Amino acid sequence: MTEGQIRKVTDVTCPFCGSLCDDIEVDIENNDVKTVYNACTIGTTKFFSANEKESRFTKPMLRKDGELVPISWDEAIEEAAKILKEAERPLLYGFSSTSTEAQGYGFEIAEELGAVLDQTASVCHGPSVLAIQDTGYSGATLGEIKSRANVIIYWGSNPSAAHPRHMSRYSMFVRGFFRDKGAKDRTLIVVDPRNTDTAKLADIHITVEQGKDYELVSAMRAALRGVDIPAMVAGVPKEKILEVIEIMKKAFFGVLFFGMGLTQTFGRHRNIDTAINLVRELNSYTKWIIQPQRGHYNVTGAGTVWSWQTGFPYAIDFARGYARYNPGEYAANDVLRSGEADAALIVASDPGAHFPAVSVKHLAKIPVIAVECHQTPTTELAYLVLPASIVGIEVEGTAYRMDHVPIHMRKVRDAPNECLPDMEILKRIFEKIKELST
Ligand code: SF4
Repeated sequence: MTEGQIRKVTDVTCPFCGSLCDDIEVDIENNDVKTVYNACTIGTTKFFSANEKESRFTKPMLRKDGELVPISWDEAIEEAAKILKEAERPLLYGFSSTSTEAQGYGFEIAEELGAVLDQTASVCHGPSVLAIQDTGYSGATLGEIKSRANVIIYWGSNPSAAHPRHMSRYSMFVRGFFRDKGAKDRTLIVVDPRNTDTAKLADIHITVEQGKDYELVSAMRAALRGVDIPAMVAGVPKEKILEVIEIMKKAFFGVLFFGMGLTQTFGRHRNIDTAINLVRELNSYTKWIIQPQRGHYNVTGAGTVWSWQTGFPYAIDFARGYARYNPGEYAANDVLRSGEADAALIVASDPGAHFPAVSVKHLAKIPVIAVECHQTPTTELAYLVLPASIVGIEVEGTAYRMDHVPIHMRKVRDAPNECLPDMEILKRIFEKIKELST
């Protein structure tokens, strides 16, 4: 390709949120992202982040006298393998913003080391996983929702901000096979104490009292069974609850999307458990399904891949040589807060920015190996930084959309300098650990 010529890449998948929009087009000029078509603002920003020169790591870096200094890949892999091999309670964490191929190698390393293996679900939709394991759930693909759903509920989630194209691609504002009038064929109900941008679009906005979701779902289940309910539940008048229940019963096809406003508020997995049961009971009247609004683009993949490999989706401990599962004991925050973890391999994640202070303080005391593209609060405290290519932009791979549909992610440009794919970095660490064991 001639210097300055623009190359268009089509059918690109956006590697940001769990919507995994796969209709993106990207213009590349001199290996830089020039224009991004169809993506929302946050997706577009992710594509342009690949161009950043200042904040990108392009060589392996080791901390010496408080400063990160460049080293060779061979030295970096050897150092990473030694740190992990010598640790008594190594932690592997992150993995929701990388490919399924890399996630598979995360498992291989954790099993080989007898480590703790965890992913970001433990701080977002972990309660959904627990409830689904307890109760099961009725689901559908986003394609089926687009074709059929005429009553759409977003409960404790705000797709306008977190999944900006979700409503226009899969639910409210899109024409579907049975919903050829698009939004005119659908009713949008939002349950949220906040007047979010999504709530402003709703036909009905239920302003549930903060932390009282369990009470509200329980009242809805009671009303569905014809039981008399109090005049006001969780700040919502009885009439409104009955009105919504009637709409839900008469739906052609209903979907209840839920987010962290349900998973991470008072009640947690019990909120999800009772919401799943509400949906199950609605199926006595009509077709309803329930769908978590997954955040990171491949957090669903992490749970799926590790469930194939170990039987468990997150918070997995291999210390006894086989997989054990116990969120609350083996999740990343559990082994950091307790001070157990004595080394950490962080892949495509930033616990330094998002974990509680007590966990971050412990991370700062132990050797942290960060497989990361950009400078982050985690790399600020890392001992070793292994520069990664950005999956879905600089390396292809597979990711699972929030509805468990696997989607291929394309490469649109070359990674800078010495960056390597996460999968290759992890494979090399795994092989070096095995070599050190012999
Ligand atoms: Fe990317 Fe999500 Fe925006 Fe789609 S909605 S373009 S996947 S950030």
